[in-house]
Amino acid sequence: MIYLDNNATTPLDAEVREAMLPFLDGHFANPSSGYGLARPVRRAVARAREQVAELLDCEVEEIVFTSGGTESDNAAILSARRLFPERDHFVTCAAEHDAVTRCLRELEERDGCRVTRLGTRRDGTIDLGELQSALVPGRTSLVCLMQANNETGVVQPVAEAAAMAESCGALFHTDAVQAAGKVPIRLRGGHVHTLALSGHKFHAPKGVGVLYVNRRIAFAPMLTGGGQEGGRRAGTENVAGIVAIGMAAACGRRHLEQVAAGHDPVAVLRDEFEREVGARLAGVTVNGAGAERTPNTSSLRVAGVEAAAMMVLLDQRGVCVSAGSACHTGTHAISPVLAAMGLGAPEARETLRVSLSRLTTAAEIREAVDAFVWAAGRVREVMGQGPR
Ligand code: PLP
Repeated sequence: MIYLDNNATTPLDAEVREAMLPFLDGHFANPSSGYGLARPVRRAVARAREQVAELLDCEVEEIVFTSGGTESDNAAILSARRLFPERDHFVTCAAEHDAVTRCLRELEERDGCRVTRLGTRRDGTIDLGELQSALVPGRTSLVCLMQANNETGVVQPVAEAAAMAESCGALFHTDAVQAAGKVPIRLRGGHVHTLALSGHKFHAPKGVGVLYVNRRIAFAPMLTGGGQEGGRRAGTENVAGIVAIGMAAACGRRHLEQVAAGHDPVAVLRDEFEREVGARLAGVTVNGAGAERTPNTSSLRVAGVEAAAMMVLLDQRGVCVSAGSACHTGTHAISPVLAAMGLGAPEARETLRVSLSRLTTAAEIREAVDAFVWAAGRVREVMGQGPR
């Protein structure tokens, strides 16, 4: 099996698994308890907080552990709404994840808020001029702009957008779920107020995430109760998950140090995949090719070849990828991300997402290229376009 759907979820890293296992076993105490049994558990949570803060280049007290990316995105948005009830305007982008989009839609439909959705250019990035024009001083509560897109890997100009939001008095939230461990994130001295991470997107298990809360801002918690996480997220800590996301952050940081030294093995394999497929098949286009992208993601389409048929054939060859044209709740609506980039329904239906991880090997990519070329040839044969 060749797993190339790492933007959906990633396999657990062996080092992460090893780090978390004792906390499913002997180290079971509640970290808030007063006896000695709880001490190593408390220390492990503190260490994980340091590891995540090191990955994000921020202070340890700015890290709040959550249940995942969805909770972190919702908590950031709902905090802004509660903190500034008089500000009823939100700005976001048409290509955001549902965890942001649907939460904002709720505010619009149930709370009477106004939401401005910025479009994207053909390469998937927003126009900062458009953002500047959308901001309303004294009225805009929050700007939500993801760091990297889950379907295309396109990276947004988050630092510049955050500075714009702050200078207009608005808060700024970024969903960095698809960026963690792939591109550097440096929060110190910047203008990002809240940021979301999800453990299972960078080799920790599902059900654990992080919300960064800049210490300069106030925060209104979504969950209240036992006062854990400095009163910002109540509930007994998911200790094993927290230890795991801490170790995943440390592994991600180590990987990024290697990238900074000039070698990104993931980008090398992704680029090889795109180059080989482009050389061996006619009519291949990479969506967002002109923009900065996360090194692991390839959103690509083969002219005249339906992605759904490709997925079935690739699955037969043991290759897991996903279609770029999401099929939400049974309706075959085209992906808003691709639509925002100006792709029509036929192009969206041809789009496949291939997403690697730092565990992907060169041999797997070679085999995946062969399978991809074979599958596209089969679809073209059946469609009467002939093989190439
Ligand atoms: N944000 C982005 C960009 C994502 O890709 C995902 C997961 O698909 C989420 C948020 C939600 O994260 P989680 O699955 O941890 O709730």
